[in-house]
Amino acid sequence: MSAGKDDIIKAVDRLATDLERLSHKIHDNPELGYQEVKAAGWLTEFLAAQGFKVERGVAGVETAFRATIETGEGPTIAILCEYDALPGIGHACGHNVIAAAGAGAGAALAALKQQLPRGRIQVVGTPAEEGGGGKVRLVHGGVFKGVDAAMMIHGWDKWIPQQDLLGIVRVGFEFTGQAAHASADPWEGVNALDAVIQTFNNVSMLRQQVRPQCRIHGIITHGGAAPNIIPEFAAATFYVRAPKLDEMWALHRRVVACAEGAAKATGCTLKVVEQDNTYEPMRRNQTLLDAFRANMARLGLPEAPEVKDRLGSSDVGNVSQVVPTIQPLVKIAPDGTPIHSRAFEAAAVSPLAREGLLAAAKVMAMTAFDLLAEPGLLTRAHQEFAAAK
Ligand SMILES: [Zn+2]
Ligand SMILES: [Zn+2]
Repeated sequence: MSAGKDDIIKAVDRLATDLERLSHKIHDNPELGYQEVKAAGWLTEFLAAQGFKVERGVAGVETAFRATIETGEGPTIAILCEYDALPGIGHACGHNVIAAAGAGAGAALAALKQQLPRGRIQVVGTPAEEGGGGKVRLVHGGVFKGVDAAMMIHGWDKWIPQQDLLGIVRVGFEFTGQAAHASADPWEGVNALDAVIQTFNNVSMLRQQVRPQCRIHGIITHGGAAPNIIPEFAAATFYVRAPKLDEMWALHRRVVACAEGAAKATGCTLKVVEQDNTYEPMRRNQTLLDAFRANMARLGLPEAPEVKDRLGSSDVGNVSQVVPTIQPLVKIAPDGTPIHSRAFEAAAVSPLAREGLLAAAKVMAMTAFDLLAEPGLLTRAHQEFAAAK
């Protein structure tokens, strides 16, 4: 193993206690998306102490940050941190480990000093993954312009280098009809709830004609005030998911058509409420994944097969559409522990989480080192990225 990589391993081991403490502090102070003031504060303090130049509130997002070390002209590698918690169940997605692993990888590279090949390492703090779309705002704000490759990890019950992520569009349908007494004058009414129910029926028919990995799921958010009033207003929210960007937007159009048809059938007017936190699908980059896997193998980390049928979504997908990006899954919980569960929340501060955190910091730092040291690797990653467009 090269001297640089040996030193990365030593640097992470030297920082192990600090990194675990950072992870526990974030875990024990769960903050929801865009409110992660403490977590962003602790992470930027830590990175500044490791020699990073820290910018807080990047892209106008208060709890976002970018911490940079630069060793001369060369490529820019971004390592992403998430640190938002879930309502009610705290760090049940283990973002405390993501944050500490990202900061640890950055710190290990900063510790290399003269040995670090020329270029730039940026640790980017990305708030509000759990629905708020922090990375969507950072992408729009230009934070990833000039970044050549990005990586982050996510806690899981196994080490899995690649997991596909579905893109997700969130869309609201608001139907307006006309109120009337439901028994005395029902013929005077225009039933907005019927329009919502018809939308669900239309979507149910659509479902048979979509590809297996697509997902459409909705809830009724307004269904009327009382059974004896024909509802004059009713509304629903749908999530539309698909594995490819064009497929996602095509399916979205078909779901909107379901609501339009329902409005027509019932005589209601329809307002389509587009939400601006669309998470794009993950664009795979095998070149970066293989570089990560090679460093996993160096550390003797086991690799579990890819999960093909249990797919979620994340705003890291948006990053993957503008720059070659990977988000490998790291074992921090016992086999079979589902994320967003109380058991996963407990696991995120267990000895297993410490192990995963330190190993992930090492593998990310080693992979970032490779990307700076071997220009050919980055070229291949970019060629693959361009071809996959
Ligand atoms: Zn989550
Ligand atoms: Zn998560």
